[in-house]
Amino acid sequence: MKADPFNNVAEVTERLEEEYPSSNLGNKERPFDELVYTVLANRTREEYYQRAFGRVKDLVKDWNQLPDVEDEDLAAAIGDAGLGRKKARTLKHAASLLQNDMDEVSLDFLENMSTEDAEDYLLRIRGVGPKTVKCVLMYALDRTVFPVDTNCARVGNRTGWLESSARRYTKAQMHRIEERVPSRLRRSLHIRLVQHGRRTCTDGKPHCDSCPLNDLCDYYEANR
Ligand code: SF4
Repeated sequence: MKADPFNNVAEVTERLEEEYPSSNLGNKERPFDELVYTVLANRTREEYYQRAFGRVKDLVKDWNQLPDVEDEDLAAAIGDAGLGRKKARTLKHAASLLQNDMDEVSLDFLENMSTEDAEDYLLRIRGVGPKTVKCVLMYALDRTVFPVDTNCARVGNRTGWLESSARRYTKAQMHRIEERVPSRLRRSLHIRLVQHGRRTCTDGKPHCDSCPLNDLCDYYEANR
């Protein structure tokens, strides 16, 4: 019988920490900033969404102005980060919801909420899914959650500890995975899996020969 693949999650984290010493992916300290950053990051490359974040910040000097920005102007600022209209609608809905509920476009109030309540609140934003929510919780609110993005799913699936490489995980699926990852490892493992998926375990043909996980990997074992 195959050993529980989560048994080596600490070893995987340690090896990836050695491979990727920096844990800075440009994420934001303020939760609304992080929400915008993560929405812009959806299905695009790092350089595109980083530039788009700068353009959106230039357009909307103060997030409280976001509900009044024209959709088309916002979509144009998102530009080559892609899905401009969809991302603009999501950001406008988030801003309007907050203005309505809190009288300001800020998610700072989540700091005083439990992780579960903060998660439920964020999921009320149309177009925001469990991965984006967990990124806001982890990066900006320091909660010990484990977002599963496409890179995490791909690496996790190839190495054999995630059953699916699906682009989207449901809230329940993500919770089940999170429970299997020790809380002390979650942040670091998430960040390193993102880096590993971008640089080595890439979409398409992965660079297995230079991978520090290849002796632990089902895909490598099956395809070498
Ligand atoms: S050995 Fe290849 S498939 Fe496995 S994690 Fe490394 S790069 Fe990905």
